[in-house]
Amino acid sequence: MFIAYDESKKRVDINDADKSKQYYCPICGEKLIIKAKDSLAVKRHFAHKKGAECLDTWQHDMSEWHYNWQCLFPEECREVVVEKFGVKHRADVLINKFVVELQHSPITAAEIMERNNFYLACGYTVIWVFDSQNKVKSGYTTYKTVNPFLTTLEWKRARREFHIPTLNGVCVFIEYKTDVPANPQQEEDILLFLKKFEPKSIDPWDTNPFYIKRENLLKTLGIGADDVLSINDIFMAHKKYINQTTREPIYIKRKLQTRRRFRF
Ligand SMILES: [Zn+2]
Repeated sequence: MFIAYDESKKRVDINDADKSKQYYCPICGEKLIIKAKDSLAVKRHFAHKKGAECLDTWQHDMSEWHYNWQCLFPEECREVVVEKFGVKHRADVLINKFVVELQHSPITAAEIMERNNFYLACGYTVIWVFDSQNKVKSGYTTYKTVNPFLTTLEWKRARREFHIPTLNGVCVFIEYKTDVPANPQQEEDILLFLKKFEPKSIDPWDTNPFYIKRENLLKTLGIGADDVLSINDIFMAHKKYINQTTREPIYIKRKLQTRRRFRF
C-alpha cells in the first residue's frame, strides 16, 4: 500500500514516510514495514511483515505507474477502505460513487470478478484501467506505435485475465502510448474504452478523431478544469464529426444507437 496510518491514525503517503517511525495497516491495524525497493515495476511501499494475515487478502499492484495514477486524485480519494458484510477492502481510488482499480501487474480473471462483485454490491460503478504499454499490437502492420483509428488492435499475447463476462456497472480502459497526430516524433498516453473483456481481440468504442486521455477520465469522474472534455463530451464530439463526414445515414443511425448504451 502507498498510504498507511501513523501512531495517531493520520494517513501518511509513502513519499512522506519516515523509516524511523512506525506505521499501521488501515484495514487490520497491524504494524507495517517499508519495502524500500524502488523500480519501475515496484515502487517503495508499505507492506505487512512476512506471515501476517491481513483481512484484505487481495494482491495490490505497487508499481510506479500505479502510484502516479493514484496521485492524480485528491488525497482523501486514494486507497479508501470500503466495508460491506463485515469484509474490508482497499479501493485504489473511490470518488463520487466510482471505484477506480489501477492495474499494471498481472491479475487473475477470478480476482477481477471478485473485486467487481464486491464493489457492485456496495453500490459503486467499477472502472478498471490496465497499463497495456507494450502489450498491444496492430492487426495489420508492425508500426512501433499503434493508432486505434487506423488499424485493428490485438493483444501481443492473449490476456487470460480478460476472459470474463462483461458486467453492468463495470467499465474497462486500457492505456498505452501512440503517436501525437500533430507531431509523429512524439508519443502520448491514450485510453481506449473497451466494449468488453476479450482475451484475444481489443474492441474499443470509436472516438475518432479524438483520443481519450487521463484528463478526460478524471473530468468524467468529477475532477478537472472547465475546458476539459468528459468522455461523454468526446462521444458527442465524435458523433458530430461522423455526421459531418459521412453520407450514409443508416450507418450513422446504427452507430448512434450503440453509443447511447454507454453513459457515465
Ligand atoms: Zn492489514
